[in-house]
Amino acid sequence: MKIIIHGGFFSESDQSAETKIAKQNSLQSIAKKSFEFLQNHTATETVVYTVSLLEDDELYNAGIGSQIQSDGKIRMSAAIMNGETEKFSGVINIQNVKNPILVAEKLMQEDDRVLGSEGAKKFADENNFEDFSTELPVRRKEYEAKKKALGTGTVGCVALDAEGKLAAATSTGGKGFELVGRISDSATVAGNFANNFCGVSCTGVGEDIVSNATATKIVTRVTDGFSLKDAFKKTFEELKVYDGFAGAIAIDKSGNIFHQDSHPTMVFASYDGESFECFA
Ligand code: ASP
Repeated sequence: MKIIIHGGFFSESDQSAETKIAKQNSLQSIAKKSFEFLQNHTATETVVYTVSLLEDDELYNAGIGSQIQSDGKIRMSAAIMNGETEKFSGVINIQNVKNPILVAEKLMQEDDRVLGSEGAKKFADENNFEDFSTELPVRRKEYEAKKKALGTGTVGCVALDAEGKLAAATSTGGKGFELVGRISDSATVAGNFANNFCGVSCTGVGEDIVSNATATKIVTRVTDGFSLKDAFKKTFEELKVYDGFAGAIAIDKSGNIFHQDSHPTMVFASYDGESFECFA
């Protein structure tokens, strides 16, 4: 059993010692809690649980910590992919829910599994997800000052469970100050992808990740016989054509864990019950 999580890019963050320590503590506590949860839950249940914990932490740009868009509103996106069934579900630009990843989880049972904006919110309301304002006073201050939000990053998780099944989940408040209607990579197969061979969750500039199809390419390459490391190497080389800005975390079916970023530096943590690795 293995777990790896990410919390977006360090370079997007408030780089004070205080925030750094808070993030290290948060990553350590969430990685360990999630690994415990994984002991008697599936990979898919675990990635949902883990991303919901990250969404509940104000340190990250997802759920309650989400950034504000150019029109002063918050819109969030989140997705899950079950590596065994290869089902993908997600919400794009949903407003006023606390945990977009839980709405994405509910959608996993539907025929129509990716919903956008009003439709996603209507589905959340019909399924009794509480109406919740995710706006933090600090994000409003940053918005009023026309500053990019500090101390935040998109979140993601990949898990390998006791039965050797993989899953990936990703959740974001977007880039901050984006045009209304802009679609993040996080709830697309470019930003979040898994099958029985490999699971990947990305962070970075959504437009760059979509152009590169990062998560799908890495998973496909591993499926076709590349090692995880070589699949990352080739995919990240291809990002260089346009100086693409991306980071990704992954686990393959043998339990190899890998992460890479195109620019310094992605915030991440991995845990397998014995060794804990972290950068924040
Ligand atoms: N990928 C996200 C987006 O472009 C942002 C991030 O990962 O920080 O919406």
